[in-house]
Amino acid sequence: MTMTARSDAASIVFDDVSYRYSEHDDWALTHIRFGIASGEWATVTGGSGSGKSTLAKLANGLLKPDAGRVTVYGTDASSGDARTIRQLIGIVFQNPDDQTVGGTVEEDIAFGLQNLRVPRDEMRRRIDRVLRLLRLTELRGRPVHGLSGGQKQRLAVAGVLAMNPRAIVFDEAASMLDPENAAHLRSVMLDLHRSGITIIHITHDPEDLLKSERILVLHDGRLAFDGDWRALAACSGVLEEAHMLAPFLIRFQQAIRAKGCDWPVFSGSEKELARTIWEFASKM
Ligand code: ADP
Ligand code: MG
Repeated sequence: MTMTARSDAASIVFDDVSYRYSEHDDWALTHIRFGIASGEWATVTGGSGSGKSTLAKLANGLLKPDAGRVTVYGTDASSGDARTIRQLIGIVFQNPDDQTVGGTVEEDIAFGLQNLRVPRDEMRRRIDRVLRLLRLTELRGRPVHGLSGGQKQRLAVAGVLAMNPRAIVFDEAASMLDPENAAHLRSVMLDLHRSGITIIHITHDPEDLLKSERILVLHDGRLAFDGDWRALAACSGVLEEAHMLAPFLIRFQQAIRAKGCDWPVFSGSEKELARTIWEFASKM
């Protein structure tokens, strides 16, 4: 576990959390335990239906656990004021149509702030800032329904960011975007992380795993793995069991090992791999 021992540094804690949508349904999540430190970047992965979105909704109080407790910056996510929790931790969903309210771009962002009764001057400052950050300034007067998918997703991020959250969950937020918009979203996520915001990145793209020091793998509603990619590469079978592919670099190095080659270490980037191959080859 990479979580720091100091619980006051933990932003999001799942303490033995189980959840099912109804008594007739199977458990969507069972006995989930983990903590994410403030300012950490955690990647959550797993096959379709493994419980990733359920976990996201439990994290910000949209769903209440049937057993166990979710704590967000020290506040119980199910007993605390829902507005307080949602201000602390925002979610960007896969489909931006699920979280834009309409009107113009500016009105859409203002909507959430009006609900929080943010004063007018402060509201204007926040809107200007998030429009700039998400490259939406020129579109501020445009109706939301006329935006492209990429623009709508940027608007969804802007709306979440305007609330000044301390943590943001991106629930497969790039999966409907073209490569250019997906790359831009990724750079926004990196900037937010650098500014100290806790990031929970839910993804089923194996290539995202190597970019993260903390990976949580869900399988059938259970937490099947919690650690960094080096540990994940060493735990062969975890990803396959969870119906996931390992990142290409890891599969490539596993294939080399499977050939009986005494491959020294797992390299997590193309550059590192090139260096390892070079050092390996020069000893031959
Ligand atoms: P993921 O995001 O990993 O694809 P979900 O959290 O959406 O997984 O779903 C976990 C499980 O809960 C699945 O078995 C799914 O069918 C079920 N589920 C999700 N949403 C609902 C719902 N609204 N009502 C009933 N079951 C649901
Ligand atoms: Mg999902």
